[in-house]
Amino acid sequence: MPEQPADLHLNLLKIVTLLVLFPLLYVLACRSLPAPRRGIGHDPNGKEDRADPHRTQEEPERPVPLSITTMPDYRFSDIPSRPENVRGNLGRSPARNWQHIVIHHSATETGGMDSFDRVARRERGWKGVGYHFVIGNGHGAGDGEVEVTFRWEDQIHGAHAGVEQYNEYGIGICLVGDFNTGYPTEQQIRALVSLITYLQERNNIPTSEILLHRHLKNTACPGEKFSDPFIKVLSLLRR
Ligand SMILES: [Zn+2]
Repeated sequence: MPEQPADLHLNLLKIVTLLVLFPLLYVLACRSLPAPRRGIGHDPNGKEDRADPHRTQEEPERPVPLSITTMPDYRFSDIPSRPENVRGNLGRSPARNWQHIVIHHSATETGGMDSFDRVARRERGWKGVGYHFVIGNGHGAGDGEVEVTFRWEDQIHGAHAGVEQYNEYGIGICLVGDFNTGYPTEQQIRALVSLITYLQERNNIPTSEILLHRHLKNTACPGEKFSDPFIKVLSLLRR
């Protein structure tokens, strides 16, 4: 017997239901289930979910890395001949025959004059921080802020070079940062060029006496990533 039109419509409705409705229900059912955890394989007993030792607590937020991993351009059109952002008395009349400028890094990502001063007193038994100047990176001291230590204000020797001549007659400048892993900030380099320019003019120090700590002794200071910024610094000096 040939199929009646009504039967045909009924069969079509069944097919449409199978093709559309069931997949739709399946998708909705899947979405309401909890998402599977990463790194956990098939576990028929559901025990691993509860026993995973690495996921017993909320994942801690990753700290924002402080190091600058790509070298900034250090392109400046206007570097003042005296730093603008200064904490302390920069304009002391030189009372010593300063002959060199020695550049260091703190080998820490954060810090400033006060924190280095505390470490020098407490852990080393020194009079205080060993540098004459500290240039902050925005984490502990202002970004590009020049901090003048008591050694410059009192015009006394430094404790930074590990070589007597350079401690006695070298002006120690420390940039906050670990330049084994990252680069100094734009504002630090701007402040450094400005400070060196000022000190060179006041003390008649030639650019050949602008030195890195590692030029004086066997140390990585101020870090291998300071090599290219140092070339930039030298190119921006006026003497
Ligand atoms: Zn050093």
